[in-house]
Amino acid sequence: MIYNLAMNITEEFDTITAISTPLGTGGVGVIRISGSKSFDIANNITTCNNLPPGKICHGWITDKSKKIDEVIILPFKAPNSYTGEDVIEIQCHGGLHVVKNILDIVIKNGARIAQRGEFTKRAFLNKRIDLSQAEAVDDLIHSKTSEFAIQSAKNLSGVLAQKINEIKKDIFEAASKIVAGIDFPEDVAEPDYPYLIQIFEKSINEIDKVLANAKSSDILRQGIKVTIAGRPNVGKSSLFNALLNLNRAIVTEIAGTTRDIISETIDLGLPVTLIDTAGIRKNENIDKVEEIGIEYSKQSVRDSDLILFMYDASEGLTNQDKEIYGIIKDKKHIIIANKIDIADKSRAGFDNDLKISTLTKDGLEELKEKIKNTVLDFSTDDIEFVTNQRQQTCLIRCREALGRALYGAKNYQLQDMIYIDLKSSLLCLDEITGEVINDEILNNIFDHFCIGK
Ligand code: GDP
Repeated sequence: MIYNLAMNITEEFDTITAISTPLGTGGVGVIRISGSKSFDIANNITTCNNLPPGKICHGWITDKSKKIDEVIILPFKAPNSYTGEDVIEIQCHGGLHVVKNILDIVIKNGARIAQRGEFTKRAFLNKRIDLSQAEAVDDLIHSKTSEFAIQSAKNLSGVLAQKINEIKKDIFEAASKIVAGIDFPEDVAEPDYPYLIQIFEKSINEIDKVLANAKSSDILRQGIKVTIAGRPNVGKSSLFNALLNLNRAIVTEIAGTTRDIISETIDLGLPVTLIDTAGIRKNENIDKVEEIGIEYSKQSVRDSDLILFMYDASEGLTNQDKEIYGIIKDKKHIIIANKIDIADKSRAGFDNDLKISTLTKDGLEELKEKIKNTVLDFSTDDIEFVTNQRQQTCLIRCREALGRALYGAKNYQLQDMIYIDLKSSLLCLDEITGEVINDEILNNIFDHFCIGK
Protein backbone atom coordinates (compact mmCIF):
# COMPACT_ATOMS: atom_id res chain seq x y z
CA MET A 1 0.00 0.00 0.00
CA ILE A 2 1.25 3.53 -0.74
CA TYR A 3 0.49 5.89 2.10
CA ASN A 4 0.05 9.47 1.05
CA LEU A 5 -0.36 11.31 4.29
CA ALA A 6 -1.09 14.55 2.47
CA MET A 7 -4.28 12.86 1.24
CA ASN A 8 -5.43 12.29 4.82
CA ILE A 9 -5.91 8.56 4.47
CA THR A 10 -7.23 7.22 7.74
CA GLU A 11 -7.54 3.57 8.58
CA GLU A 12 -9.54 1.79 11.24
CA PHE A 13 -7.01 -0.02 13.44
CA ASP A 14 -7.75 -2.83 15.86
CA THR A 15 -6.71 -2.56 19.50
CA ILE A 16 -3.17 -3.65 20.27
CA THR A 17 -1.26 -4.32 23.46
CA ALA A 18 2.28 -5.15 24.57
CA ILE A 19 4.62 -5.07 27.52
CA SER A 20 6.63 -1.86 27.05
CA THR A 21 9.30 -2.46 29.69
CA PRO A 22 12.11 -5.02 29.42
CA LEU A 23 11.13 -8.52 30.51
CA GLY A 24 12.67 -9.32 33.87
CA THR A 25 12.50 -8.33 37.48
CA GLY A 26 12.21 -4.60 38.11
CA GLY A 27 10.47 -1.94 40.13
CA VAL A 28 7.72 -1.26 37.62
CA GLY A 29 6.34 -2.98 34.52
CA VAL A 30 4.33 -1.12 31.89
CA ILE A 31 1.63 -2.63 29.67
CA ARG A 32 0.39 -0.41 26.90
CA ILE A 33 -2.96 -0.70 25.11
CA SER A 34 -3.83 1.37 22.03
CA GLY A 35 -7.00 1.45 19.93
CA SER A 36 -10.70 2.12 20.18
CA LYS A 37 -11.36 -0.70 22.69
CA SER A 38 -8.65 0.47 25.15
CA PHE A 39 -10.98 2.20 27.60
CA ASP A 40 -13.58 -0.63 27.51
CA ILE A 41 -10.87 -3.19 28.22
CA ALA A 42 -9.45 -1.11 31.07
CA ASN A 43 -12.91 -0.61 32.57
CA ASN A 44 -13.54 -4.39 32.39
CA ILE A 45 -10.32 -5.51 34.00
CA THR A 46 -9.74 -2.87 36.68
CA THR A 47 -11.51 -1.76 39.81
CA CYS A 48 -11.46 1.82 38.43
CA ASN A 49 -14.79 2.90 36.96
CA ASN A 50 -15.10 5.29 34.01
CA LEU A 51 -11.46 6.15 33.68
CA PRO A 52 -11.11 9.93 33.35
CA PRO A 53 -8.71 10.84 30.48
CA GLY A 54 -5.57 12.64 31.61
CA LYS A 55 -6.01 11.65 35.25
CA ILE A 56 -3.95 9.04 37.04
CA CYS A 57 -6.03 6.23 38.57
CA HIS A 58 -5.08 3.84 41.29
CA GLY A 59 -6.76 0.45 41.58
CA TRP A 60 -6.52 -3.30 41.04
CA ILE A 61 -6.40 -5.49 37.97
CA THR A 62 -8.93 -8.25 38.47
CA ASP A 63 -9.71 -11.43 36.58
CA LYS A 64 -13.14 -12.88 37.34
CA SER A 65 -13.02 -10.91 40.62
CA LYS A 66 -9.62 -12.46 41.49
CA LYS A 67 -7.13 -9.71 42.42
CA ILE A 68 -4.07 -9.89 40.15
CA ASP A 69 -2.03 -6.77 41.02
CA GLU A 70 -2.33 -3.29 42.46
CA VAL A 71 -1.68 -0.83 39.65
CA ILE A 72 -1.57 2.75 38.44
CA ILE A 73 -3.49 3.44 35.24
CA LEU A 74 -2.78 6.30 32.84
CA PRO A 75 -5.70 6.91 30.44
CA PHE A 76 -5.12 9.04 27.30
CA LYS A 77 -7.97 9.96 24.95
CA ALA A 78 -7.38 10.29 21.16
CA PRO A 79 -5.74 12.29 19.70
CA ASN A 80 -3.76 13.30 22.78
CA SER A 81 -1.71 10.16 23.19
CA TYR A 82 1.54 8.62 21.92
CA THR A 83 -0.22 6.80 19.06
CA GLY A 84 -2.93 9.39 18.48
CA GLU A 85 -5.53 6.76 19.48
CA ASP A 86 -7.17 5.96 22.82
CA VAL A 87 -4.33 4.65 24.95
CA ILE A 88 -4.21 3.02 28.36
CA GLU A 89 -0.93 2.50 30.16
CA ILE A 90 -0.92 0.16 33.14
CA GLN A 91 1.95 0.44 35.59
CA CYS A 92 2.14 -2.75 37.60
CA HIS A 93 4.79 -4.38 39.78
CA GLY A 94 7.77 -5.30 37.67
CA GLY A 95 7.85 -9.06 38.11
CA LEU A 96 7.99 -11.19 34.97
CA HIS A 97 4.85 -13.23 35.77
CA VAL A 98 2.75 -10.31 37.02
CA VAL A 99 3.35 -8.42 33.78
CA LYS A 100 2.62 -11.48 31.66
CA ASN A 101 -0.57 -12.28 33.61
CA ILE A 102 -1.89 -8.77 33.02
CA LEU A 103 -0.98 -8.92 29.33
CA ASP A 104 -2.93 -12.20 29.00
CA ILE A 105 -5.98 -10.64 30.68
CA VAL A 106 -5.84 -7.64 28.32
CA ILE A 107 -5.66 -10.01 25.34
CA LYS A 108 -8.55 -12.13 26.69
CA ASN A 109 -10.61 -8.94 26.81
CA GLY A 110 -10.22 -8.09 23.15
CA ALA A 111 -6.78 -6.69 22.33
CA ARG A 112 -4.23 -8.41 20.13
CA ILE A 113 -0.50 -8.48 20.72
CA ALA A 114 1.28 -5.60 18.97
CA GLN A 115 3.92 -6.14 16.31
CA ARG A 116 7.38 -4.62 16.56
CA GLY A 117 7.21 -0.83 16.58
CA GLU A 118 3.46 -0.87 15.97
CA PHE A 119 2.71 1.86 18.55
CA THR A 120 5.23 4.20 16.89
CA LYS A 121 4.01 3.17 13.43
CA ARG A 122 0.51 4.21 14.46
CA ALA A 123 1.87 7.48 15.87
CA PHE A 124 3.35 8.07 12.41
CA LEU A 125 0.26 7.00 10.44
CA ASN A 126 -1.92 9.16 12.72
CA LYS A 127 0.48 12.08 12.04
CA ARG A 128 1.59 12.50 15.65
CA ILE A 129 5.17 12.37 14.38
CA ASP A 130 6.84 12.31 10.96
CA LEU A 131 8.98 9.40 9.76
CA SER A 132 12.29 11.03 10.72
CA GLN A 133 10.98 11.42 14.27
CA ALA A 134 9.82 7.78 14.31
CA GLU A 135 13.32 6.72 13.25
CA ALA A 136 14.75 8.95 16.00
CA VAL A 137 12.69 7.01 18.58
CA ASP A 138 14.45 3.82 17.53
CA ASP A 139 17.85 5.57 17.44
CA LEU A 140 17.31 6.93 20.93
CA ILE A 141 16.41 3.52 22.33
CA HIS A 142 19.31 1.74 20.63
CA SER A 143 21.98 4.44 20.93
CA LYS A 144 25.28 2.94 22.01
CA THR A 145 26.61 6.16 23.54
CA SER A 146 25.20 9.06 25.51
CA GLU A 147 26.39 11.44 22.75
CA PHE A 148 24.37 9.64 20.07
CA ALA A 149 21.34 9.63 22.38
CA ILE A 150 21.63 13.44 22.60
CA GLN A 151 21.90 13.73 18.80
CA SER A 152 18.90 11.40 18.31
CA ALA A 153 16.83 13.51 20.70
CA LYS A 154 17.38 16.48 18.36
CA ASN A 155 15.79 14.51 15.50
CA LEU A 156 12.99 13.41 17.82
CA SER A 157 12.24 17.07 18.41
CA GLY A 158 11.85 17.43 14.63
CA VAL A 159 14.94 19.42 13.55
CA LEU A 160 15.71 17.19 10.57
CA ALA A 161 12.11 17.34 9.36
CA GLN A 162 12.18 21.11 9.77
CA LYS A 163 15.32 21.39 7.62
CA ILE A 164 13.81 19.13 4.94
CA ASN A 165 10.62 21.20 4.91
CA GLU A 166 12.66 24.40 4.48
CA ILE A 167 14.43 22.94 1.42
CA LYS A 168 11.11 21.62 0.12
CA LYS A 169 9.46 25.03 0.39
CA ASP A 170 11.78 26.66 -2.18
CA ILE A 171 11.57 23.78 -4.65
CA PHE A 172 7.80 23.65 -4.23
CA GLU A 173 7.50 27.36 -4.95
CA ALA A 174 9.54 27.04 -8.16
CA ALA A 175 7.51 23.98 -9.20
CA SER A 176 4.21 25.81 -8.54
CA LYS A 177 5.29 28.76 -10.68
CA ILE A 178 6.19 26.41 -13.53
CA VAL A 179 2.81 24.64 -13.28
CA ALA A 180 0.95 27.97 -13.20
CA GLY A 181 2.84 29.07 -16.35
CA ILE A 182 2.00 25.78 -18.10
CA ASP A 183 -1.67 25.64 -17.02
CA PHE A 184 -2.51 29.31 -17.57
CA PRO A 185 -0.09 30.48 -20.31
CA GLU A 186 -2.21 33.55 -21.12
CA ASP A 187 -2.49 34.80 -17.54
CA VAL A 188 0.71 33.69 -15.84
CA ALA A 189 4.22 34.11 -17.22
CA GLU A 190 6.71 31.26 -16.96
CA PRO A 191 9.26 31.86 -14.21
CA ASP A 192 12.57 33.32 -15.43
CA TYR A 193 15.41 30.88 -16.00
CA PRO A 194 17.84 32.90 -13.79
CA TYR A 195 15.28 32.64 -10.96
CA LEU A 196 15.07 28.87 -11.41
CA ILE A 197 18.87 28.56 -11.54
CA GLN A 198 19.21 30.54 -8.32
CA ILE A 199 16.59 28.41 -6.50
CA PHE A 200 18.08 25.12 -7.70
CA GLU A 201 21.62 26.14 -6.79
CA LYS A 202 20.50 27.24 -3.34
CA SER A 203 18.62 23.97 -2.73
CA ILE A 204 21.55 21.85 -3.94
CA ASN A 205 23.81 23.83 -1.62
CA GLU A 206 21.48 23.18 1.34
CA ILE A 207 21.32 19.46 0.56
CA ASP A 208 25.11 19.33 0.33
CA LYS A 209 25.30 20.88 3.78
CA VAL A 210 22.98 18.21 5.19
CA LEU A 211 24.92 15.48 3.40
CA ALA A 212 28.21 16.87 4.69
CA ASN A 213 27.28 15.66 8.14
CA ALA A 214 26.54 12.14 6.84
CA LYS A 215 30.05 10.95 7.72
CA SER A 216 29.87 12.33 11.25
CA SER A 217 26.38 10.81 11.64
CA ASP A 218 27.70 7.42 10.57
CA ILE A 219 30.68 7.65 12.94
CA LEU A 220 28.50 8.67 15.88
CA ARG A 221 25.97 5.95 15.09
CA GLN A 222 28.21 3.02 14.17
CA GLY A 223 31.41 4.06 15.88
CA ILE A 224 34.93 3.12 14.88
CA LYS A 225 37.18 0.08 14.99
CA VAL A 226 40.43 0.57 16.85
CA THR A 227 43.13 -2.11 16.85
CA ILE A 228 45.93 -2.31 19.39
CA ALA A 229 48.99 -3.60 17.52
CA GLY A 230 52.56 -4.27 18.55
CA ARG A 231 54.96 -7.11 19.26
CA PRO A 232 54.15 -9.55 22.08
CA ASN A 233 54.51 -8.47 25.70
CA VAL A 234 54.56 -4.71 25.17
CA GLY A 235 51.31 -4.38 27.15
CA LYS A 236 48.51 -4.53 24.55
CA SER A 237 46.16 -6.70 26.63
CA SER A 238 46.91 -4.56 29.68
CA LEU A 239 45.86 -1.46 27.72
CA PHE A 240 42.74 -3.23 26.46
CA ASN A 241 41.77 -4.07 30.04
CA ALA A 242 42.65 -0.63 31.34
CA LEU A 243 40.49 1.11 28.71
CA LEU A 244 37.66 -1.28 29.43
CA ASN A 245 38.17 -1.06 33.16
CA LEU A 246 38.05 -4.82 33.53
CA ASN A 247 40.09 -7.96 33.15
CA ARG A 248 38.77 -9.26 29.86
CA ALA A 249 42.03 -10.12 28.10
CA ILE A 250 44.53 -12.44 29.73
CA VAL A 251 47.69 -10.62 30.79
CA THR A 252 50.87 -12.62 31.42
CA GLU A 253 54.57 -12.05 31.06
CA ILE A 254 54.74 -14.99 28.62
CA ALA A 255 54.91 -13.75 25.05
CA GLY A 256 52.10 -14.94 22.80
CA THR A 257 49.27 -15.30 25.34
CA THR A 258 46.75 -13.42 23.20
CA ARG A 259 46.19 -15.96 20.45
CA ASP A 260 42.87 -14.78 19.17
CA ILE A 261 41.18 -11.47 18.55
CA ILE A 262 39.27 -10.06 21.52
CA SER A 263 36.95 -7.12 20.99
CA GLU A 264 34.70 -4.98 23.18
CA THR A 265 32.91 -1.68 22.66
CA ILE A 266 33.56 1.32 24.90
CA ASP A 267 31.89 4.72 25.03
CA LEU A 268 34.29 7.56 24.28
CA GLY A 269 31.46 9.86 23.20
CA LEU A 270 31.39 7.67 20.09
CA PRO A 271 31.21 3.88 20.20
CA VAL A 272 34.76 2.52 19.95
CA THR A 273 35.17 -1.16 19.20
CA LEU A 274 38.52 -1.94 20.73
CA ILE A 275 40.39 -4.92 19.34
CA ASP A 276 43.21 -6.67 21.19
CA THR A 277 45.33 -8.70 18.81
CA ALA A 278 47.93 -11.40 19.03
CA GLY A 279 51.34 -9.74 18.94
CA ILE A 280 52.70 -9.68 15.43
CA ARG A 281 56.06 -11.52 15.43
CA LYS A 282 58.20 -13.80 13.33
CA ASN A 283 59.61 -16.88 15.03
CA GLU A 284 60.14 -20.55 14.11
CA ASN A 285 58.67 -21.59 17.48
CA ILE A 286 55.25 -20.13 16.73
CA ASP A 287 52.58 -22.84 16.81
CA LYS A 288 49.71 -23.13 14.36
CA VAL A 289 47.09 -21.54 16.67
CA GLU A 290 49.22 -18.49 17.31
CA GLU A 291 50.03 -18.25 13.59
CA ILE A 292 46.29 -18.01 12.82
CA GLY A 293 45.96 -15.37 15.57
CA ILE A 294 48.74 -13.33 13.98
CA GLU A 295 47.06 -13.58 10.58
CA TYR A 296 43.80 -12.29 12.18
CA SER A 297 45.82 -9.42 13.69
CA LYS A 298 47.09 -8.36 10.29
CA GLN A 299 43.53 -8.56 8.90
CA SER A 300 42.23 -6.53 11.84
CA VAL A 301 44.89 -3.86 11.23
CA ARG A 302 43.73 -3.66 7.61
CA ASP A 303 40.03 -3.32 8.59
CA SER A 304 40.46 -0.75 11.37
CA ASP A 305 39.79 2.97 11.33
CA LEU A 306 42.65 3.62 13.76
CA ILE A 307 45.67 1.67 15.02
CA LEU A 308 47.16 2.07 18.46
CA PHE A 309 50.75 1.05 17.77
CA MET A 310 52.40 0.15 21.07
CA TYR A 311 56.04 -0.44 22.01
CA ASP A 312 57.71 -1.06 25.36
CA ALA A 313 59.40 2.18 26.49
CA SER A 314 61.48 0.25 29.03
CA GLU A 315 63.15 -1.61 26.16
CA GLY A 316 63.12 1.19 23.62
CA LEU A 317 62.30 0.63 19.96
CA THR A 318 63.50 -2.76 18.76
CA ASN A 319 63.96 -3.85 15.16
CA GLN A 320 60.81 -5.95 15.48
CA ASP A 321 58.87 -2.84 16.60
CA LYS A 322 60.19 -0.96 13.57
CA GLU A 323 59.15 -3.80 11.29
CA ILE A 324 55.61 -3.79 12.69
CA TYR A 325 55.48 0.00 12.48
CA GLY A 326 56.33 -0.38 8.79
CA ILE A 327 53.16 -2.47 8.34
CA ILE A 328 50.81 0.00 10.02
CA LYS A 329 52.41 3.39 9.31
CA ASP A 330 50.22 4.24 6.32
CA LYS A 331 47.04 3.75 8.34
CA LYS A 332 45.69 6.39 10.74
CA HIS A 333 47.58 5.63 13.95
CA ILE A 334 48.73 6.74 17.39
CA ILE A 335 52.14 5.68 18.67
CA ILE A 336 52.08 4.62 22.30
CA ALA A 337 55.18 4.20 24.48
CA ASN A 338 54.03 1.92 27.31
CA LYS A 339 55.62 1.04 30.69
CA ILE A 340 56.96 4.56 31.33
CA ASP A 341 56.81 3.70 35.04
CA ILE A 342 59.94 1.56 34.56
CA ALA A 343 61.39 3.23 31.47
CA ASP A 344 64.79 4.81 31.28
CA LYS A 345 64.05 8.24 29.72
CA SER A 346 67.16 8.04 27.52
CA ARG A 347 65.72 5.14 25.47
CA ALA A 348 65.07 6.20 21.88
CA GLY A 349 61.48 6.34 20.72
CA PHE A 350 59.40 8.40 18.34
CA ASP A 351 59.15 12.15 18.87
CA ASN A 352 55.37 12.20 18.75
CA ASP A 353 54.64 9.12 20.84
CA LEU A 354 52.17 9.20 23.69
CA LYS A 355 53.73 8.05 26.95
CA ILE A 356 51.56 5.85 29.14
CA SER A 357 51.67 3.22 31.81
CA THR A 358 48.82 0.74 31.84
CA LEU A 359 50.01 -0.20 35.33
CA THR A 360 49.88 3.26 36.97
CA LYS A 361 47.19 4.47 34.47
CA ASP A 362 49.35 7.50 33.59
CA GLY A 363 48.44 8.97 30.19
CA LEU A 364 45.25 6.93 29.74
CA GLU A 365 42.84 9.90 29.81
CA GLU A 366 45.08 11.70 27.33
CA LEU A 367 45.00 8.62 25.11
CA LYS A 368 41.18 8.50 25.18
CA GLU A 369 41.03 12.16 24.12
CA LYS A 370 43.58 11.54 21.38
CA ILE A 371 41.62 8.56 20.02
CA LYS A 372 38.53 10.75 19.80
CA ASN A 373 40.27 13.74 18.27
CA THR A 374 42.18 11.68 15.71
CA VAL A 375 38.95 10.24 14.32
CA LEU A 376 36.47 13.07 14.80
CA ASP A 377 37.36 15.95 12.53
CA PHE A 378 34.19 17.72 13.71
CA SER A 379 32.81 19.01 16.96
CA THR A 380 29.68 17.25 18.17
CA ASP A 381 28.39 20.66 19.36
CA ASP A 382 28.20 21.77 15.70
CA ILE A 383 25.92 18.88 14.68
CA GLU A 384 22.36 20.08 14.15
CA PHE A 385 20.93 16.61 13.48
CA VAL A 386 21.98 13.13 12.45
CA THR A 387 20.95 11.28 9.30
CA ASN A 388 20.71 7.56 8.63
CA GLN A 389 21.48 5.59 5.45
CA ARG A 390 17.87 5.72 4.23
CA GLN A 391 17.67 9.46 4.66
CA GLN A 392 21.06 9.97 3.03
CA THR A 393 20.01 7.89 0.00
CA CYS A 394 16.85 10.00 -0.38
CA LEU A 395 18.95 13.18 -0.20
CA ILE A 396 21.41 11.91 -2.81
CA ARG A 397 18.52 11.03 -5.16
CA CYS A 398 16.97 14.44 -4.54
CA ARG A 399 20.28 16.14 -5.31
CA GLU A 400 20.62 14.19 -8.58
CA ALA A 401 17.12 15.23 -9.68
CA LEU A 402 17.86 18.86 -8.79
CA GLY A 403 21.15 18.62 -10.69
CA ARG A 404 19.20 17.59 -13.81
CA ALA A 405 16.71 20.44 -13.24
CA LEU A 406 19.61 22.91 -12.92
CA TYR A 407 21.19 21.63 -16.13
CA GLY A 408 17.79 22.02 -17.83
CA ALA A 409 17.37 25.59 -16.58
CA LYS A 410 20.89 26.56 -17.65
CA ASN A 411 20.17 25.19 -21.13
CA TYR A 412 16.73 26.83 -21.45
CA GLN A 413 14.93 23.49 -21.67
CA LEU A 414 11.13 23.40 -21.82
CA GLN A 415 9.87 24.06 -18.33
CA ASP A 416 7.52 21.08 -18.29
CA MET A 417 10.63 18.90 -18.67
CA ILE A 418 12.29 20.69 -15.74
CA TYR A 419 9.11 20.19 -13.74
CA ILE A 420 9.43 16.38 -14.03
CA ASP A 421 12.80 16.51 -12.22
CA LEU A 422 11.48 18.93 -9.62
CA LYS A 423 8.62 16.59 -8.89
CA SER A 424 10.96 13.65 -8.34
CA SER A 425 13.19 15.77 -6.10
CA LEU A 426 10.15 16.67 -3.97
CA LEU A 427 9.12 13.00 -3.75
CA CYS A 428 12.58 12.11 -2.41
CA LEU A 429 12.21 14.73 0.33
CA ASP A 430 8.69 13.50 1.10
CA GLU A 431 10.13 10.02 1.58
CA ILE A 432 12.39 11.32 4.35
CA THR A 433 9.54 12.74 6.38
CA GLY A 434 7.27 9.92 5.24
CA GLU A 435 4.62 12.00 3.51
CA VAL A 436 4.70 9.56 0.62
CA ILE A 437 5.85 6.14 1.61
CA ASN A 438 5.16 2.52 0.72
CA ASP A 439 4.56 -0.53 2.89
CA GLU A 440 7.96 -2.04 2.15
CA ILE A 441 9.90 0.97 3.44
CA LEU A 442 7.62 1.31 6.45
CA ASN A 443 7.93 -2.36 7.39
CA ASN A 444 11.67 -2.16 6.92
CA ILE A 445 11.86 0.69 9.42
CA PHE A 446 9.46 -0.60 12.07
CA ASP A 447 10.62 -4.22 11.92
CA HIS A 448 13.80 -3.07 13.68
CA PHE A 449 11.88 -1.67 16.65
CA CYS A 450 11.25 -3.59 19.81
CA ILE A 451 7.80 -4.92 20.67
CA GLY A 452 6.00 -2.47 22.94
CA LYS A 453 7.47 0.65 21.29
P1 GDP B 1 50.77 -8.09 25.35
O1 GDP B 1 51.39 -9.40 25.04
O2 GDP B 1 51.32 -7.02 24.46
O3 GDP B 1 49.27 -8.14 25.34
O4 GDP B 1 51.24 -7.67 26.83
P2 GDP B 1 50.50 -7.87 28.23
O5 GDP B 1 49.43 -6.87 28.40
O6 GDP B 1 50.14 -9.32 28.37
O7 GDP B 1 51.67 -7.46 29.22
C1 GDP B 1 52.91 -8.12 29.23
C2 GDP B 1 53.57 -7.88 30.59
O8 GDP B 1 53.88 -6.49 30.73
C3 GDP B 1 52.69 -8.24 31.77
O9 GDP B 1 53.51 -8.86 32.76
C4 GDP B 1 52.18 -6.90 32.27
O10 GDP B 1 51.87 -6.91 33.65
C5 GDP B 1 53.34 -6.01 31.95
N1 GDP B 1 52.91 -4.60 31.74
C6 GDP B 1 51.96 -4.16 30.91
N2 GDP B 1 51.87 -2.81 30.99
C7 GDP B 1 52.78 -2.40 31.90
C8 GDP B 1 53.17 -1.11 32.40
O11 GDP B 1 52.64 -0.05 32.07
N3 GDP B 1 54.19 -1.08 33.33
C9 GDP B 1 54.80 -2.23 33.74
N4 GDP B 1 55.76 -2.08 34.62
N5 GDP B 1 54.46 -3.45 33.28
C10 GDP B 1 53.47 -3.54 32.38
